[in-house]
Amino acid sequence: MTPRVTKGKCTYCNKIFSKSGMWKHLETCKERKKILEKKKGEKCFHILVDCGKIYWLHIGIPVTAKLKDLDNFLRDIWLECCGHLSAFRLGKNSYVSYPDDYTGYKDMEIKLSDLLTPGMVFTHEYDFGSTTELKLKVLSEYKGEVKGKSVKVMARNDPPEMICYQCDKKIAAVICSSCGPICEGCSKEHACGILLPVVNSPRTGICGYGG
Ligand SMILES: [Zn+2]
Ligand SMILES: [Zn+2]
Ligand SMILES: [Zn+2]
Ligand SMILES: [Zn+2]
Repeated sequence: MTPRVTKGKCTYCNKIFSKSGMWKHLETCKERKKILEKKKGEKCFHILVDCGKIYWLHIGIPVTAKLKDLDNFLRDIWLECCGHLSAFRLGKNSYVSYPDDYTGYKDMEIKLSDLLTPGMVFTHEYDFGSTTELKLKVLSEYKGEVKGKSVKVMARNDPPEMICYQCDKKIAAVICSSCGPICEGCSKEHACGILLPVVNSPRTGICGYGG
């Protein structure tokens, strides 16, 4: 049922690489180099966002963007189902999305450049009930093509193919939040719970996530 390690596509040249191979590739990708030379963006962090072996993103985000902007981006692309609380954890500090509910925690109104340097690893948690934890690593700092709060997705994992847990043959079309991935055919007789769509996100099949 669990899909294997996924590969992904470089959004500049469309070539396929593994998660770790992608970093090396992006550093030398000719198409990317052309764009970085042409576009006048701000200084950016290259961050690898990681959720297990399957889901990963290589992103570029201006160093002047705030944690809040990164949180919004992660919610948009992967996480948001019903506005749960989220937090970044960096060293001993936690930065939460609704600091009023948690005394002693910091908010997310802080610039990335005030916190991060290349080589740093930190985590992001979304939803403290059915938590999705992401690992983030700052790979480098470079002159990017985006400004302000914009985030550039440089590469993203290909959608994993999940096999139906019932027939163990066909590709799943939906996910039952209690049982697992189910194909179109088997889903017709499946009446135990809510069936959610299969989406390219670590929250597929969790809570009410519909992509
Ligand atoms: Zn490329
Ligand atoms: Zn939810
Ligand atoms: Zn099936
Ligand atoms: Zn079920």
